Amino acid sequence: MDLRDLKKITEDFIPSEIYPALFVGHGNPMNVLYDNAYTKSLSLLGSSFVKPKAILVISAHWLTRETFVSTSLNPETIYDFGGFPPEMYQIVYPAKGSPEFAKLVQNEVKKTIVVADPEMGLDHGAWTILKHIYPNADVPVFELSIDFYKSPRWHYELAQELKVLRKKGILIIGSGNITHNLRRAKFDVPDSQVDDWAIEFDEIVKAKILSNDHEALIDYMNLGKSASLAVPTNDHYLPLLYTLGLQEKGEAISFPYEGFQNANVSMRCLKIG
Ligand code: ZN
Repeated sequence: MDLRDLKKITEDFIPSEIYPALFVGHGNPMNVLYDNAYTKSLSLLGSSFVKPKAILVISAHWLTRETFVSTSLNPETIYDFGGFPPEMYQIVYPAKGSPEFAKLVQNEVKKTIVVADPEMGLDHGAWTILKHIYPNADVPVFELSIDFYKSPRWHYELAQELKVLRKKGILIIGSGNITHNLRRAKFDVPDSQVDDWAIEFDEIVKAKILSNDHEALIDYMNLGKSASLAVPTNDHYLPLLYTLGLQEKGEAISFPYEGFQNANVSMRCLKIG
């Protein structure tokens, strides 16, 4: 046996271990260009565990009727936003897709039919964070859509069916924000200035995550008065339920980043495992 064989065995061994699952608060797409405490924490995340075989992103920015999985081998970088500086539209995240692992998702999910989408590229909920986590774009990335006509509990249960992917070397990332109310976001305030309702809701969610009270988090509208301000629509909250649905009993929980931007957007990130 030479070194190459040993390397091969090591690579084959890694996937049998359970991979972490992440929730990343993505906030303003401009973060892709910034160098701040939040983006630094994303850069550190990338080097905190062995590189995965592929990354599955469940992003707030791919909302559909029914559930789709992206199967393109070369997913395009999608500029699904408007009014940003020209340099934002020049960023390319050239990661490969992963049709094989997309097929695995289709096979593993029993709760619904997962439809292959060969056209879907990478939305900004995926590439703006991955640019910091894996800047070389050297890990294949694919996405699962969020069926916006289904309940929070339905999404949580669907996520539970994806647990098996964590044992196959796949990093699953829910990308959204725990508090997300664009009408109230302010773009001319320092990050230290944060609205009380945003702090309140983010703290409640943090406490429920730490006490593994997933029922309360599924039923988030009953988490106090701040809930309706923090989650006026649940597109950015649902990715959190996907990450929580992937949690195995007794797994470690940590928050690689805690903080706010734009007066009330929680940038909290969660790592399970
Ligand atoms: Zn977003």
